[in-house]
Parts: sequence; structure tokens; C-alpha cells
Amino acid sequence: MHPQLELLLEIQDLRTQRGGLADGTLTDVESDVFAVSIEDAIEALDEKVAELESRLHDDVRQRYRMMTAKGMRVVVPVLNGICYGCFMAVATAKASVHDRNARVESCEHCGRFLYHLD
Ligand SMILES: [Zn+2]
Repeated sequence: MHPQLELLLEIQDLRTQRGGLADGTLTDVESDVFAVSIEDAIEALDEKVAELESRLHDDVRQRYRMMTAKGMRVVVPVLNGICYGCFMAVATAKASVHDRNARVESCEHCGRFLYHLD
């Protein structure tokens, strides 16, 4: 997989975790069993996200920022030729999944970054 795509997926995962911590949906156990406070955990996630964001290429980061500002999911899977961001058919090259994921592709309809599952 393209390193920029891996970074985006990692960032997206951390941001999802952060959201779950912030809104309490990830904290169904008593907070006194945690090794860190929720506030510290969120801060640590924020720092990691900022570090990962700094490793994005300028053009990728710019588009990533635009989408996150709109609350959009930034990276979505393509399954059976359908973008799972906008559920429109995307043109898929006759390359292998591996080769397609070796590029940073985005949906021609919604602009989200794509990773191919088949
Ligand atoms: Zn799309």
C-alpha cells in the first residue's frame, strides 16, 4: 500500500478513537482502571495525529484537511467497483489490488481517498 495511504488510514483510525474517547462511547469501563486519564489519552492521540499529519505530502494534506473540516471520512474502501464514501461506481483499472493500492487514488465523484479491497 502507498505510504501516504497508510498514513491517512492510521490518522483516520486515531481520529475515530479520539472521537470515541471525547464523546464517552469508548469509555464504558470505570475510568479508575485506566493507566492514563481520558484527557491525557486524548492529548496523546492529538499529538500523534499532528505528527502523522506533518508527514503527509502538501497536496494530500490539503485535501485531507478540507475533508476533515467538512466532517467527511477521508479514506474509504472500494468494494465491487463502488466507492463506499458516495456509493457511486468508480472506474477501476485492470491492475491488481496491490498495484492499485500502490497509488494514491481518489474518487472522481466525492474526492475521498480510496483503498481497494478487490
Ligand atoms: Zn466517492
